[in-house]
Amino acid sequence: MIAFIILLFLNLTPKFQEEIIIDSKMTFEESISGINFPMQILNQLELVDVKYYSFDGKLHQGQVLINKKVKKDILELFEIIKEIKFPIAKAIPISRYDWDDEKSMKDNNTSAFNYREVKGTSIKSYHSYGLAIDINPLQNPHIKRGRIFPENANYNPVAAGTLTKESVIVKEFIKRGWSWGGNWKSSKDYQHFEKRLK
Ligand SMILES: [Zn+2]
Repeated sequence: MIAFIILLFLNLTPKFQEEIIIDSKMTFEESISGINFPMQILNQLELVDVKYYSFDGKLHQGQVLINKKVKKDILELFEIIKEIKFPIAKAIPISRYDWDDEKSMKDNNTSAFNYREVKGTSIKSYHSYGLAIDINPLQNPHIKRGRIFPENANYNPVAAGTLTKESVIVKEFIKRGWSWGGNWKSSKDYQHFEKRLK
């Protein structure tokens, strides 16, 4: 009888364990393979797991490759992203896209480290140190001299997953000392946040 009651109780207990869809589960080695870059930078990087709701309304788990110095910020930010259910399409280290920023953006991928220059210059981007992150490039494109990157993107301030001056996410990044590309004068890089460490 007692066993029956326990079974009945277990059966009636709501299932709190929400199913998680895995978008990325790489090893650190996989996340840095395919390009050469200075060991000094490699030693500063860490691959962290993040959870977020995607556009399907389901909880997903992805990964971001970042500088250890911004780990705390990034984990706090993703905690807020999950809490307020700000949709993130996916977060997969860019090695999966052969280090091709264009490919990653077109796939609406959120990513951080990539050893590359600022588009159209020879200056190393903050992404090269794991100190920058791009969020939902299709909702938050880079608009420069009337051109839009990626080409299949569209900036609609009221669409889900879009960043504006009023976004909680933008405010929380700025609060932690990050600079947002949507506030730039020469071009608008709505997907981009970077932390300029002193
Ligand atoms: Zn960026």
